Amino acid sequence: MYTIDSLHKRLEELTQLSIRLRLNQNGSHIISVQHAHESNFIAVSIHRAFLAADEKVIRALAQFVKTPTPTCRRILREFIDAIPHSEMSKHARRPRLCARGRVYDLDKIKRELVEEFFDGQLEVAITWGRNGRPAHNRRRHLQLGCYQHAQRVIRIHPVLDSPDIPEYFVRFVVYHELLHAVFDVRRDENGRRRLHTPEFRALEKRFPHYREALAFERELMKKL
Ligand SMILES: [Zn+2]
Repeated sequence: MYTIDSLHKRLEELTQLSIRLRLNQNGSHIISVQHAHESNFIAVSIHRAFLAADEKVIRALAQFVKTPTPTCRRILREFIDAIPHSEMSKHARRPRLCARGRVYDLDKIKRELVEEFFDGQLEVAITWGRNGRPAHNRRRHLQLGCYQHAQRVIRIHPVLDSPDIPEYFVRFVVYHELLHAVFDVRRDENGRRRLHTPEFRALEKRFPHYREALAFERELMKKL
């Protein structure tokens, strides 16, 4: 049986990564792994049941945090399926997705972008995120979108669901996150995460309103 501290230590040992670990008891996010943009840690939220997991499951979890493989997914799936129902919350196990905003329909935007840029071949869900102030990260980029590779879900900050935001800018933020879904999480030979590789940046520049979008982001950043 682990404590949160011993499990945290074990995961960092196995992954050789800086991890911020949280326990949850909601059935909707049994495992959530978020690679925060431009920062060095990975935010991992897991169900409390993992405190009682055995070595095989913890190794699979570590593998999942680094780079998901079919084997680790299978081991985790078996473990999760065996969690007694009484320990799960009553919430649905799938995250609730809401793509239709007051102004913008993210599903429609996603479908059009996937058609235009990715030959219609990209399986990823999209939703508006929860309200709250967008975080400014270290490089002072606004965190307006994120891609959660564990669930293959893109979340877009609801501050963009406004008539004050031009559609090309919403499309740009979605396009950026779609590129993360395409590349998923790649690592260099030292095991470091490589989110915005030169290849990524080159593809990002293909967006038709690239320069306007960056300029708009700078303006928006001053207001938020
Ligand atoms: Zn990014």
